[in-house]
Amino acid sequence: MTQSPYRPFIPNPEQMALLPAVSGNTINGMGETQFRRPARVYWHDPDTIAHGELQKWFYTQDPDNEAINHARAARSKVLAIEVPAVTGEPLQQPVEEWSRQLAAYANTLDLELFGITAFKPEWGYDGVVLDYKWAIMLGFAHDYEQMKSAPEATAGAEVVRQYGRATKAAKDIATWIRQRGWDAAPHAGPLAGPLLMIPPALECGFGILGKHGSIISKDYGSSFRLACVLTNTPLAPTPYQADYDVDDFCRRCQVCANACPPEAILPKKVSVRGKNKWYVDFDKCIPFFNEHFGCAICITVCPWSIPGRGVRIVEQLKRRAQRLNA
Ligand code: SF4
Ligand code: SF4
Repeated sequence: MTQSPYRPFIPNPEQMALLPAVSGNTINGMGETQFRRPARVYWHDPDTIAHGELQKWFYTQDPDNEAINHARAARSKVLAIEVPAVTGEPLQQPVEEWSRQLAAYANTLDLELFGITAFKPEWGYDGVVLDYKWAIMLGFAHDYEQMKSAPEATAGAEVVRQYGRATKAAKDIATWIRQRGWDAAPHAGPLAGPLLMIPPALECGFGILGKHGSIISKDYGSSFRLACVLTNTPLAPTPYQADYDVDDFCRRCQVCANACPPEAILPKKVSVRGKNKWYVDFDKCIPFFNEHFGCAICITVCPWSIPGRGVRIVEQLKRRAQRLNA
């Protein structure tokens, strides 16, 4: 069993001095058995969250790193792109035509995953009012060769690069919709925006939640980023895409848990705001994450993230299920 070479991890005391009194797990609702909407914990305006000083500290690490700075400079150009205001009367056409045209347009963009699902207000952060019918979800695969070095800067820079791609595509789709007379709100990381993105991506069937708390896609493993466009444009949901399950696999696999330096990945599902799910201990994860360019070890070592492996695992799981049923 391969243990992390980064253990034992002793967090920088300077960072630990910035920890707020409240646990991030408490903010996230770990152990709570009743539903409530999510509260902001990280990647929001730092002056509005308990862990804001910690979030600011992340950006003080290795400020002269060339790979990271190069990626951030490229992304800042995308962040500066303005999405035009809504123009003209709202285009009226059948839902099927809207959906077909939007999917065709998305197909011309630089992205890997596309899906549409009905928006649920429960995905919005506590206190946020989002009056939208549809969440258009987008996925952007990392370059695995760049991610293999996680938690080194090469991987951190690749994450920044994919957030740039995500921002560009989300803005392109929002622009396309607004030019047809309908409002559309693009959201892409690293800042979290007004809603959780994993639940709508799961609804689209981009994958299944894994033990490391990230989505496992058959085609891209957990090595991808998400973006979202909210709109009221008349649309239809895309067919659910995931035809496999990872729960049984994750129960038998320990790869991410063994590789996580601060041992933040819980061995069993827990109730989080009324839902039983895999969960990562925020308080243990975030100090290592902050000191290592966003870490990304768990999503990179996951066997499903190795290019081509997920499709083969799905076939193995099917054969296993057939044997057990025989
Ligand atoms: S991102 Fe967090 S949970 Fe994942 S390996 Fe790094 S420290 Fe562990
Ligand atoms: S590394 Fe293994 S246990 Fe962790 S999420 Fe991936 S498949 Fe599941």
